[in-house]
Amino acid sequence: MDVLIVEDDRSIAESLIAALRESGLRPRHVATGAAAIAAVSGASGDPDIVLLDLGLPDVDGYDVCRAMRAVSAVPIIVVTARSDEFDRVLGLELGADDYMVKPLGTRELVARIRAVLRRSKSGATGTTPDGGDADSLSAGALRIDLRTHRAFLHEEELALTPKEFDLLAFLSEDPGAVRTRTDIIEHVWDSNWFGPTKTVDAHVASLRKKLGDQRWIVAVRGVGFRLEIPSGGVV
Ligand code: CA
Repeated sequence: MDVLIVEDDRSIAESLIAALRESGLRPRHVATGAAAIAAVSGASGDPDIVLLDLGLPDVDGYDVCRAMRAVSAVPIIVVTARSDEFDRVLGLELGADDYMVKPLGTRELVARIRAVLRRSKSGATGTTPDGGDADSLSAGALRIDLRTHRAFLHEEELALTPKEFDLLAFLSEDPGAVRTRTDIIEHVWDSNWFGPTKTVDAHVASLRKKLGDQRWIVAVRGVGFRLEIPSGGVV
């Protein structure tokens, strides 16, 4: 799979290239909007998917997205440092297939790339061949939509910050499995992130509050955390 990385920040581009290679994908890199538009022509030889940074030096990322969409149905994942809702909606309305906010956790990024590719191959139905939904995770009454970055409890949307969402999604990938603090920091924050591990506890605390039941996230002393579907009582 050829992945076109459109990113003007050299160090970010380099770490993305390394992470994608490691995952068996074939990254190509351009640093400007003009080069990105030139790389997508709707012909064979086009990339299989585009990872598009919105903040580019020459052409606005939105215009790059629009220009690509005019000639090609290539899946586009928009990457931005701007996390407000307006940008998110606009990104998706422009025809982008997914949207991620920096800093990128490389593991989640690769998962999202694979999900978008699966979706585009299965005719944009949003389902895998076995009928499961490729883009959502669920545990008990909890449902997580990875494509739209929204989480629901009893079908009621939770108001989560981007990091709370990423943390919940990471724990929900494998309910019951213990995630160590190091794992959590690496996958939810960034492998280059050296902040205090207290940040994890703070996010766990606010997530528990929003889930309305402490028992959703169980602390495993000296190790980390796991997601557990609370049994009985108020969920
Ligand atoms: Ca940029």
